[in-house]
Amino acid sequence: MKNLSERILNIAPSLTVAVDTLAKKLKAEGKDIVSLGAGEPDWDTPLEVQNAGKAAIDEGKTRYTAPQGILEVREAVAEKLRRENGLEYAPEQIIMTSGAKHAVFNSLLAIINPGDEVIIPEPYWVTYPELVKLLGGVPVIVHTRVENDFQMSGEELAKAVTPKTKAVILNNPTNPTGTLYSEDVLQDIAKVIVENDLYAVSDEIYEHFSYSDSFRFKSLASFEGMLQRTLVINGLSKSHCMTGWRTGYVAAPKEIAKLIAKAQGQTTHHPSNIAQYAAEKALKMPLDIVYKMRDEFRNRRDFLYGKVSKVPGVSLRVPNGAFYLFADISKLFGKKTPAGKVISDSIEFCTYLLETVGLAIVPGSAFGREGYVRFSYAASMETLAAAAERFEKGVRALQ
Ligand code: PMP
Ligand code: GLU
Repeated sequence: MKNLSERILNIAPSLTVAVDTLAKKLKAEGKDIVSLGAGEPDWDTPLEVQNAGKAAIDEGKTRYTAPQGILEVREAVAEKLRRENGLEYAPEQIIMTSGAKHAVFNSLLAIINPGDEVIIPEPYWVTYPELVKLLGGVPVIVHTRVENDFQMSGEELAKAVTPKTKAVILNNPTNPTGTLYSEDVLQDIAKVIVENDLYAVSDEIYEHFSYSDSFRFKSLASFEGMLQRTLVINGLSKSHCMTGWRTGYVAAPKEIAKLIAKAQGQTTHHPSNIAQYAAEKALKMPLDIVYKMRDEFRNRRDFLYGKVSKVPGVSLRVPNGAFYLFADISKLFGKKTPAGKVISDSIEFCTYLLETVGLAIVPGSAFGREGYVRFSYAASMETLAAAAERFEKGVRALQ
């Protein structure tokens, strides 16, 4: 048989998706598994949103839409961006996509040529470097420091820029570290991007989940000179518990939006019509429901932090955003499991926990940072309590 696609063979599978799929499979087989693997809110999609999806079916809104999505839905996105983020977009600058992941893919597809360098701060969400590689680009990874709350500084960004740099991907608040970028750091980053005539792909999917009392989330596109060079990624998966509906979008400069619509017209055509009507409802609802979730997430964060930080050999900080805790477990490396196996990396550590105490969490190496693990606290308090207990039991059993 002839060779298959080198570009796909050369990318890594998504470890977050793999951990989630495995945990769900083991549970379905009747195994006793507690999963803090996937970043997936545990609440149901709000009833009004579910009903909007059902109404779309009942009203026969089940046919093809324009590749960029339904006009009223894109108008609702433009209105959201104006109201919540102070960003002025026309509906033709908005493309509805099958989830935010697809919005990231479409955005990179529109701007990357083979050999282009794309700067990604690490720890990064698993998907970014692989999508850059899939499109023939070169991911350039910038190491961030825990002392800076894992924020990439303007200076660190500037050092990574070369004549081949095309774009920067910034995820704020950040998966997996929970970092909420401060306005000063964002300002410095924006300055470097403008000075070097780069594009920014700004993934703002966790924007509503920010817990700082001293500063608030700010869109990278809102800084001077950034609107015309930023592709804003967002969606309803996290804010409205719509992971399975696949509702995301990208807001981009006009010329780029046109390219994305052209590509989408030749690939998926458009995201589900029904999901788009549900998304419109979600976009038009008051944010109270999201703020209620945010407050609950803050309680969950504090609870899980309280438990995990007391486990010997584990260290972590309190993050200000998203719904993840990122813990340093490197002091446990070199220890032996009760079965006599030496733990030497985060994959071995997570495999050990899954096999012995039935706890699913994600190894830091998935995010480019060995020595760490990621806990998602988008789970009920009971699940968090059970997870913390299992984690402690697993760690204490190491010799
Ligand atoms: N961006 C980040 C940073 C994420 O963590 C995720 C995971 N859900 C996505 C994008 C993808 O979201 P969606 O489920 O809407 O594709
Ligand atoms: N984004 C979520 C996570 O990081 C869901 C899985 C994925 O799409 O990566 O767990």
